[in-house]
Amino acid sequence: MDTEKLPPFFKPMEAEEKFSFNCHPDVPCFTECCRELDLALTPYDALRLKNNLDMHSGGFLEKYVIIEWDPSQLFPVCYLTMVDDGKASCVFVSGKGCSVYPDRPSSCRAYPVGRGVIKREDGSHEESYVLLKEPHCQGFAEQQQYTPASYSTDQGLDIYNRFNDALLGLVQHPRIKNGFRPTREQLDQYILALYNLDSFRQEMADGRISLRRPFNALELQALAGDDEQLLLLGIRWLKQEFFDELD
Ligand code: SF4
Ligand code: SF4
Repeated sequence: MDTEKLPPFFKPMEAEEKFSFNCHPDVPCFTECCRELDLALTPYDALRLKNNLDMHSGGFLEKYVIIEWDPSQLFPVCYLTMVDDGKASCVFVSGKGCSVYPDRPSSCRAYPVGRGVIKREDGSHEESYVLLKEPHCQGFAEQQQYTPASYSTDQGLDIYNRFNDALLGLVQHPRIKNGFRPTREQLDQYILALYNLDSFRQEMADGRISLRRPFNALELQALAGDDEQLLLLGIRWLKQEFFDELD
């Protein structure tokens, strides 16, 4: 993360640096941060939400997601729909809070901590953190203390980070630095394999798309219904299709 270019209210932090914060239904600003926001979903966010709602991934995308195909971006970005209520409220916010709380997206869990991660050439990850101290957020007046690392664990973010980081081998692939740009067909493959998991499984099961090697045990488990393994299979398939690389 380039800390010199950070916007106002952002403060760089160390992983073990303490900050006072708590968020609960009694804070005066409860759910204020669930309005007027651009909420980009990671593939793992979409997986958790569609399962929370017991929906097919295709129906979930149609009902709750706006896919932004911006030519200046390498890959399309999937935003959660906001309601046209004059406050651009999140489609899942209610008077009682978040209606999908156990499966809320990564950025909702992480707030007010931002985490940047870069995949190094040796495969390890370099992490950096910022604290987003916005004036409207009253949570900083609370006494509870966290570090970025303990807050991540408290918010159930660790598993999200694991799956979000698994994507780095694709979206930070060295070939991108060397000029790789996906074709329109590859952009469709990106949405299919990462965000439309139920259709991706069907395509694989029917043999319309495939790996250039036999499936291993975990990949067979993915085809039999394990969505988390299917997401990892999707990443692997995209690396095959984009970079001719298969692990
Ligand atoms: S998903 Fe839940 S926590 Fe996140 S913005 Fe919407 S209502 Fe708020
Ligand atoms: S603005 Fe801050 S304290 Fe208020 S609900 Fe959002 S995260 Fe919690």
